[in-house]
Amino acid sequence: MLKIQKMLGLALLAALAACGSNGGGPAPVQDFGAFRASVEEFEALAHTQGQPGLRVTNLIIKYGPVSSAQTVAECTHGSNMNPTITVDAVKFGAYGALQQRAILFHEMGHCVLDRRHLNTLRQVGAILVPTSYLYAAIADVDVNLLTDYQPTLDRELFNPSE
Ligand SMILES: [Zn+2]
Repeated sequence: MLKIQKMLGLALLAALAACGSNGGGPAPVQDFGAFRASVEEFEALAHTQGQPGLRVTNLIIKYGPVSSAQTVAECTHGSNMNPTITVDAVKFGAYGALQQRAILFHEMGHCVLDRRHLNTLRQVGAILVPTSYLYAAIADVDVNLLTDYQPTLDRELFNPSE
C-alpha cells in the first residue's frame, strides 16, 4: 500500500511532464505537527552520515486516515503537492519508540530522500535481517533487531549504495 502511494505520485509526475506542465507547484510547506523532534533527529543523522547539507524544507507530517488496514503510515508525493506523511495514530501508538523511529525514517526515506523500497535481507546465523529502513515491512521487524542493527540501518539510510 505504501508502494502504491509512491507509484501514484510518480505516475502523476510523469503525466505532468508529458504535457509539458513543469514547475509552478505549490509553495514549500514545513508542517511537522507532533513529529518535529523526529524530523530534527533525521536531519542530525543525515549530517553525521555524509549528507551535511540536508534540510527538510518541504514536508507535511500529520495524523490522519491511511489507505489500508495494514498501513501504519504512508508518504504521498507528486509535483502538485507538498510531500505528505500521514500517520495512523492508533496503530502508530501501539509501537515502541524505536519502531516508531524506524517507521518515520522509512517514510522520510520516501518523502525526503525519494527512495524506493529495498527488501534485501541479510542472513545472520539463523535470522534474516533487513538491510534498510526502506524494507517494506519495517514496522514488523523485531525491536531487538532494530536495536542491534541501528548503526548499520542509520548509515544505509543516507548511503544507500554501500
Ligand atoms: Zn514504504
